[in-house]
Amino acid sequence: MSATRNASLIPHWYGGAAHEHDGPTGQVHDPARGVAVREVAFADAAVVGAAVAAARTASETWGEEPAARRAALLAQWARVLREHRAELVELVCEENGKIPLDAEGEFERGIEVLDLAAGGGPLLLKGEFSDQVARGVDVRSMRRPLGVTAAITPFNFPLMAPIWLSSISLVCGNAVVIKPSEQDPGTAVRLAELAREAGLPDGVYNVVHGDKVAVDALLDHADVAAITFVGSTPVARYVYERGTAAGKRVQAFGSAKNHMVALPDCNLDFAADAAVSAAYGASGQRCMAVAALVAVGEVADPLVAAIAERARALRIGGFQDEGSELGPLVSRAACERVVGHIAGAEAAGAELVLDGRAYEHPQHRDGFYVGPTLVDRVTPQMDVYTQEVFGPLLPVLRVETLDAAIELLNASPYGNGAAIFTASGGAARRFEREAQAGMIGVNVPIPIPVAQYSFGGWKASRFGDVHMSGPEGYRFYTKGKIVTTRWPETSSGVNLAFGGAGR
Ligand code: NAD
Repeated sequence: MSATRNASLIPHWYGGAAHEHDGPTGQVHDPARGVAVREVAFADAAVVGAAVAAARTASETWGEEPAARRAALLAQWARVLREHRAELVELVCEENGKIPLDAEGEFERGIEVLDLAAGGGPLLLKGEFSDQVARGVDVRSMRRPLGVTAAITPFNFPLMAPIWLSSISLVCGNAVVIKPSEQDPGTAVRLAELAREAGLPDGVYNVVHGDKVAVDALLDHADVAAITFVGSTPVARYVYERGTAAGKRVQAFGSAKNHMVALPDCNLDFAADAAVSAAYGASGQRCMAVAALVAVGEVADPLVAAIAERARALRIGGFQDEGSELGPLVSRAACERVVGHIAGAEAAGAELVLDGRAYEHPQHRDGFYVGPTLVDRVTPQMDVYTQEVFGPLLPVLRVETLDAAIELLNASPYGNGAAIFTASGGAARRFEREAQAGMIGVNVPIPIPVAQYSFGGWKASRFGDVHMSGPEGYRFYTKGKIVTTRWPETSSGVNLAFGGAGR
């Protein structure tokens, strides 16, 4: 471990302090300018081991604190985070490329889960009690902490994901180790510093950086009881299989291809606004982005025209540019992937209504930008439909009936979210019930549920039983225990029958 802090290196954080170790590092970019702004240290198994050891030690006392005391400290953390809101938002913008308004939204959606943990944690941890299940016998249930839980998070929510995946686990009495995306790891460490300032005990919130090496070390570590992963499906599947093989509780959330179905009776302007906001917001880099528009019948031509008109008017630019609406992608590799999909769709015979490839920022020509792209007459066989593009590209598929739209989206391997735009309650109700996805929007483009509900997709968008956050999060981060009690006043006699039958 080096003795002096290197200001341009983002360190690991465990046991209440920053740690810099000799070893490999990665570059962190400002996507808006396309330049490296700092480095991040990559952990090996020894660094992960040190962080897990710090977490394990802290979990022993933290898990014995009254839940109300843990909740009070989390409320303090929320207060300190709110005081540092502008700084955190700017850090998200600088490392991820989000525009300020979008990063503000990420802050809000993140902190509402912390508020729920702080405000509702003790209530949700409450057990049950049954009086007199047999003569003189009572039964009660309780939830106990797991010990150390780990979270491996994606680049697209560098602030919200570490908050979501730590706050509920923490109020449950666990200590956490976060492995943030190596592309925008700064916020996870700043959260740690602010947790310390808020009075959280050293070692309850820890951060290790890195790539597969760090992830594998967490998956294999005997003292990590549970893992929450959020990222792409191939890695989610891998994390789930390796983690469960090592005996851990694992929930792994993967890729998405969210369909927005528009029926001919929808409010056209409303649907067009929603499609543009949800397809191009965060440059399409949301797991809840609309990634396929399914236009039913005669709505297709006017809806595509209305979307194109709005998308063409979007102001592209970085967080430093006043009034930007559509920011850059996270990396040059992401730009190349999206550009490749545009070329592939064109070659496959789709109609390029808007082509974002030519966009160049006037000052920052190296910035990771692709303009809004709208591709019509996409078929279900094209790569731009079958693969997750994760960029500002909206493919449009045309079908004739609601049946065909539901059949199409249900055939997708992914099932994170699905939305319908219609004026028909009957059509919407049918869609709600039949669409094979975990989160449904009705005239709402793929909503992230509010904090009091859990979040998660179906099919290859999720591995593991329970959704994240909300009430299911409390289940995931605790284990149940049932206590049966009797306080005898006289001997009841020997009875060898199962369950004391005949007594
Ligand atoms: P990613 O899978 O590349 O990385 C996610 C995390 O896994 C990162 O911390 C990364 O360092 C680590 N990782 C990457 N490759 C690994 C490997 N081979 N072995 C072990 N660990 C590895 O995902 P990303 O590009 O950071 O995020 C975008 C993806 O996340 C998209 O597919 C998006 O749909 C998905 N996502 C899903 C949800 C959801 O709730 N389902 C939410 C947000 C993002």
